[in-house]
Amino acid sequence: MSENGFACYSLRDELLLALNKKGFSIPTPVQEKVLSMDRFDTDLIVRAKTGSGKTLAFLLPLLQEMELPASNPLILVLSPTRELAQQTAREAEWLSRYLDISVATLVGGLDMSTQIRSLKEGAVVVVGTPGRTLDHVNRGSLKTENIHTVILDEGDHMLDMGFRDELEGILDALPHRNRTWLFSATMPREVKELSRKYLSHPVSISLVEDGDQHEDIVHKAYLVPFRHKMEGLVNVLLWERPKRGLIFCHTRLETMNVSQRLIEEGFNSGALHGEMTQRERNTVLAAFKNGHLPLLVATNVAARGLDVEGVTHVIQIGLPDDRDTFVHRSGRTGRAGHEGMDILLLSPQEAEKFKYMIGSAKVDIEWNNVPDVQAIGKVQREIAEEKLLTMKEAGENEDYLQWAEDLLTRVNPKNLVARLLFSLTSKRSAGYNLSSDLERELRRKSRGPVEKDRTPGNRSLKGSRPKGTMLRLSKGLADGWDVGRVLHSVCTSLNVDRSEVGAIRMKDDHVLVELLPVALSRFEEDSRGLERCGLIEEGKGRDMLFQAYSGASRGSRDRAPSSRPRRQGKTDSRKR
Ligand code: ADP
Ligand code: MG
Repeated sequence: MSENGFACYSLRDELLLALNKKGFSIPTPVQEKVLSMDRFDTDLIVRAKTGSGKTLAFLLPLLQEMELPASNPLILVLSPTRELAQQTAREAEWLSRYLDISVATLVGGLDMSTQIRSLKEGAVVVVGTPGRTLDHVNRGSLKTENIHTVILDEGDHMLDMGFRDELEGILDALPHRNRTWLFSATMPREVKELSRKYLSHPVSISLVEDGDQHEDIVHKAYLVPFRHKMEGLVNVLLWERPKRGLIFCHTRLETMNVSQRLIEEGFNSGALHGEMTQRERNTVLAAFKNGHLPLLVATNVAARGLDVEGVTHVIQIGLPDDRDTFVHRSGRTGRAGHEGMDILLLSPQEAEKFKYMIGSAKVDIEWNNVPDVQAIGKVQREIAEEKLLTMKEAGENEDYLQWAEDLLTRVNPKNLVARLLFSLTSKRSAGYNLSSDLERELRRKSRGPVEKDRTPGNRSLKGSRPKGTMLRLSKGLADGWDVGRVLHSVCTSLNVDRSEVGAIRMKDDHVLVELLPVALSRFEEDSRGLERCGLIEEGKGRDMLFQAYSGASRGSRDRAPSSRPRRQGKTDSRKR
C-alpha cells in the first residue's frame, strides 16, 4: 500500500485485509478527512458529494473502534431507501468479514421473520430504513439499550421523503445513544433543525462548496419542444447512445409511460418506482447492474443513493424540482473516478427557469438544440458501416463466402447490400423531426410573453376566451394559500409548465383553477400530487374530476392536438 494509503491510519489488520481483498488501497478525500479526526467520540456532520465514498468514511472508524467480541446491536445506520440500506449493509458485510460480527438489514417489503432472526442471532451493525426500523423498535425485536452510535445517512433525503417522525421516534427510543453522525450532500433547513435537536457540538466536515461542480461530470442540456419531450428523448438516446443510462422522471406514472414508450421505440428499458414490490425492484436493478437493461427510468426517490457502477449517462426529463435535486440526480453518474454525462431535456421556457434555478453556481453546461433526424441518420449510417466493415470473422468463413456467392448469382449486388444495410439499421426508431417545432418555440420565446394581464391578487386571462376546465380546490385564502403558492403546487404536482394553468381565482375557503388540456390530462392520470399537497382531500381526486366536467360549462374536454411529429421512414407501425 502506498504512503497515503489506508495503511497509514493504523487500522486493525482485519480491516486492512478486507480492504486489500476488495482492492481498495487509497482512501477517498472524505474517508481521509474522517479517518484523520483526532477523536471519534463526538457528534459529526459530514457534507460530501454523492459517490464520494461516505459509507466507508463512517464504517471504517466505527469498526476500528469497536470492542470485540460483540453480539448485540451497537451501531444503527439509517438510510432513506431499501436499496441504499441493502447496499450499505453489503459494504458493512465485506468490510467486517474478518471481525466476526454480523450485520442485519431492516427494510420494508422483505420478510420480517428473517430480519427478526438476524437480530436474535446477534447482529452488531444494523442498517435499516426509518419505517421498518421503527417497527422493529416498537415490537421490541430491535434491542436498543446497547446502541451507542447512530448514522443518519443521506439525511437530506430521509427528510424530503417525509421520514422526520420515524427518525425522531427512533432517536428518542435509544437510551444510550452517545454519538450521532449525520451525512448529507446538502443542508436544507429541515436537516439543520434535526441536527440542532439531536446532535450536540458536532464536528463539521465539508467537502462541498455551494454550487460546486462534480469534476467528473459533463453537463449538457438539449432544448426540445415542450410537447414533444418523449420524441426529444428518443432523438437524444439515438444521438448519445448511452451504454448505461439512468433516466429521471417526476412521477411513478411517468416512469412507466416513458419506459413503455422506449420499448416500443426499440430500446431496452425498465422502470423503477416506489410502488414496486421489493422483488420487482431487485429484478430490474439486477438487470440494470449486469448490463442486460441499458436504460432505467426512475423517480428521484427510487433512484436515491443507488450505487450502480458505470452509469454513463443521467438524463433528466424536464425541469428538476430544485437545484439540489439537479445536483443529486447528476451525481448518479461519474462515481468514484469514472467520467459521466448528465443530460437535461428542457423546453425553451424551462431552460430559462433552469438558468435561474442554477443561479451563480459554477456549473458548466453545454447547450444544444435536440439533434435532428439528419444528424442522427448520419451517425447511424456510420455505425452500421463500421459494424459491417470491421466484422472480419464472417467474411473469412468459407460457409458464408459460399453462401454469398450463391446469393450473388440470384440478386443484383447493389440491391443485396441495400437490403442488408436496411436490416442492420431498421430495428430502431430513426428519430423524429423536431426542428420546426423547436424553432417555433424559440421564436415565441424570443418575442417574450404575450400574456400581460395579471393582477396581483388573481391570475386571470381577462379578455381571452377560457379554454380550460375549472377545478375547485378545497383550500383557500383563509388556509394561507395565495396565487403563487397554488400555481407552484399545481405545476409541480402535475408536472406541467405554468402556461398549462389558466385563471386562478382565490376565494376564502376554496380556489378555482383553470386547467388547460395538458394539465387536465395529467390530472386525469394522477391526482394524488394535488392530494398530497392538501389542495384536494385525500382520495377525492376522481370526484373532483367529475365535478369539474359536470360543472364546467365553460370548460372543454378537448385535449391538445395530440399530433406527434412525423417519425422518419421505415418501421412506423406503432399501435397507439
Ligand atoms: P456515497 O455514499 O458518498 O454516495 P459510496 O460510499 O456509496 O458513496 O461509494 C461509492 C462507490 O465507491 C462504492 O461503489 C464504493 O465501494 C466505492 N469506494 C468507496 N471508497 C473507495 C475507495 N477508497 N477506493 C475505491 N473505491 C471506493
Ligand atoms: Mg452513501
